Amino acid sequence: MKIISALIPLLALGLCAAAPAASTGAAFYGDAPDEHHPWAVHDQNRPQPKLVTPGTFSSPEQPGRSPADAVVLFDGTAAALANWEADKPEKNVPTRWIVKDGALECVPKSGYVRSRASIGDCQLHVEWAAPTLPQGESQGRGNSGVFLMGILEVQVLDNYDNPTYADGFAGSVYGVQPPLANALRAPGQWQVYDIVFRRPIYRQGAVVDPGYVTVFLNGVLVQDHTPLEGATGHMKRTKPGPFPEAGPLKLQDHGNPVRYRNIWYRALPPRAIEGGTDGCLTTEATLTKRREIAVAVRADATRRDPAHPRSELLKLMEALVYEQDAATLQQVEQMAGAYAAALRQLPANQLDSKKDEVKHVHSAFNYLARFKCIPDSFGPKVELKKIVDEQGWEKKR
Ligand code: MG
Repeated sequence: MKIISALIPLLALGLCAAAPAASTGAAFYGDAPDEHHPWAVHDQNRPQPKLVTPGTFSSPEQPGRSPADAVVLFDGTAAALANWEADKPEKNVPTRWIVKDGALECVPKSGYVRSRASIGDCQLHVEWAAPTLPQGESQGRGNSGVFLMGILEVQVLDNYDNPTYADGFAGSVYGVQPPLANALRAPGQWQVYDIVFRRPIYRQGAVVDPGYVTVFLNGVLVQDHTPLEGATGHMKRTKPGPFPEAGPLKLQDHGNPVRYRNIWYRALPPRAIEGGTDGCLTTEATLTKRREIAVAVRADATRRDPAHPRSELLKLMEALVYEQDAATLQQVEQMAGAYAAALRQLPANQLDSKKDEVKHVHSAFNYLARFKCIPDSFGPKVELKKIVDEQGWEKKR
């Protein structure tokens, strides 16, 4: 009874200060976490997306600007050559490719150029232009290539009115998968590749994820999450197999003075199978993440204003959504039990003024029971339901 008496002033002071749950995204709202999803649907505890200032699109005359978090490999300046080297067995050999009129231009017979940066899974933006006056035909016209990690070629070729074998077209995964469309502009004009690359992942010799490449050519989808079959090559069937974690981006010297501009990439976050937290996780990874969230929510509960104990109670209840923690359950039982008992001590008119907050706590308990975080018979839940029923709060305004 002493505890109840002590709580009555708190009820009067603070418990009705907090507003009912927001209409969207609040705790006890969307479907609860499960064995593959650590967050509830519309979960406010899920981290906010990081802010990225977007870039600008290119025009035929001017390259666009990269997003703020991109790593720029070539921005049209001669200084950007420092990001590249000749593709030789030894390192730090200067490339013989040249920078001319804001473009990185292949000098035939100088060999591939490779980035000094080692790049794994990424979003890659590359613009290229075949020579204005077309020379040669089929694979001999405006040929180069974007080699992801130096081993998987997205073909660069002037296929404007220039047929060739389908799996060697511009936008093909060379020798494997033709592009879904030929969306090229005329030679001399700038063509834009936007590529999303996920390398294959193997464990103990078995494929865990084959890896994928998605390619847009001038905004037209030409590779749609195409599964990788291994490093690409000429004439020979590729063989599925593991890739390293990262490798340099290479641009091919195929004997044509193809030009490049505006090359940048953004590293992609790890996939769920690599310990990332997006998508559908393994049960083990989900439980680990849920425990982590529960710890943070419980820590938040301790920082609540003691003048508003219902706020702490609701936070502890929220922690139960993520983890079945016996100590927290006991704490909730004690706090909510005392809360219900204190409500019982209030005169009728004061109790009626607490209708919204009591209904909120009651509905939070219903949520916990619905998702098996507490049993239906949980004492304080039953007690609050009695109060709500006795007052007819579920029926009348
Ligand atoms: Mg090529």
